[in-house]
Amino acid sequence: MRLLSDLQHKVEIRTMYLESANKRLEMLANHDPLTGLLNRLNLEKELDALIAHFEHNRAPFAVLLFDIDWFKDVNDTYGHDVGDTVLQNIATLLKENFRESDKLYRTGGEEFVALLSRIEFDDTLILAHKIQKVIERYLFSSKEYSFYKTISVGVYHTDIAFDTNYKKILKYADMALYRAKDNGRNRVEVALKEQESETKSAQKFGQFVFRDLTLQNVIEMNAEAAAILGYSPQEFLSQKREFCSIIYSHDCDLIDAIELPFSKTMRVIKADGSITIVRVTIEEKNERILLKLYDAKSLASGVRDGLLVYNFNAMLENTNDFIYFKDANHVFTGASKRLVDITSVDSRRELIGTIDYDVFRGLRRRVLQA
Ligand code: GH3
Ligand code: MG
Ligand code: MG
Repeated sequence: MRLLSDLQHKVEIRTMYLESANKRLEMLANHDPLTGLLNRLNLEKELDALIAHFEHNRAPFAVLLFDIDWFKDVNDTYGHDVGDTVLQNIATLLKENFRESDKLYRTGGEEFVALLSRIEFDDTLILAHKIQKVIERYLFSSKEYSFYKTISVGVYHTDIAFDTNYKKILKYADMALYRAKDNGRNRVEVALKEQESETKSAQKFGQFVFRDLTLQNVIEMNAEAAAILGYSPQEFLSQKREFCSIIYSHDCDLIDAIELPFSKTMRVIKADGSITIVRVTIEEKNERILLKLYDAKSLASGVRDGLLVYNFNAMLENTNDFIYFKDANHVFTGASKRLVDITSVDSRRELIGTIDYDVFRGLRRRVLQA
């Protein structure tokens, strides 16, 4: 009898131990070790539960997406450890400013999600703006550094854009976030279903903002522009550079007389001195001039199939420069001759003003139509 109860006791202790070990494991699996917030493991399940609630009893909910503005600059300027501390501080600010019932996730490097159940649209907006302001005013500081950071917020709310598919909900919120970045950062944008579904597959472009048409004094530059050109936004802005100063000298004539809307392909000089080809468009918005750079390579990102594509890409990979048929004086090199050969242009004049990617996309159209 004694033996049996000893055994039972041992089993109980062992079970308790296993249960607590399981809890610890579950905790580890569901949480982000750096910030202690939830990780994205159960995000989709939770979102599905909110959708089901909404369908059964019309309980409104909201999804907020946060992305730190110019976060890479923190790493670049102060190092990765300070970057990590900023992520932790921001997680704490989020925890302090949301309701107990809200679920907070760190879903990517410097991206966070909040799921807010049973919340009206007005209150969602108040909360989103509040957190944006709280972060804007928070001084990140230690003995070694002291700086401010901002975040952009994309807001999805069931009253404004209901959908029963969690992927679409996240996509709407993401597009609103993208718009917040595009419209200048440190701001909140709301996902509007019609608007977002009409938005074409978001083509990445680098953007510069100027006060006037002279393209002098860049007042803002986004991360994609920095990625295309290889400058950090800080570097570019602190040197008070003009856009004109980075255009390859032979192409400066293209922006002599700008008439809006403007869209031209030209060569620009990257930070490392190499030349790249971009499509430049210029437009006016809210009394500011927006200049957008489309990386020539991204323009053809939909082109993936076929042996021709393979060969063409191989050819491109082997040259650092793009092939640009600027005018009738184009000197046909081996590479550009080859490019012309694989297309079915009737006259080389057809290629004036185009780059290899345009030619290639044209070729693909012809192949598909044939
Ligand atoms: P944007 O305003 O367009 O969001 O600019 P950004 O610089 O924030 O965006 P980008 O996506 O270019 O850079 C994100 C950076 O986040 C790049 C990466 O080095 C950094 N990052 C990602 N995860 C971590 C992390 O766990 N710790 C640290 N310190 N940095 C991280
Ligand atoms: Mg990001
Ligand atoms: Mg960011």
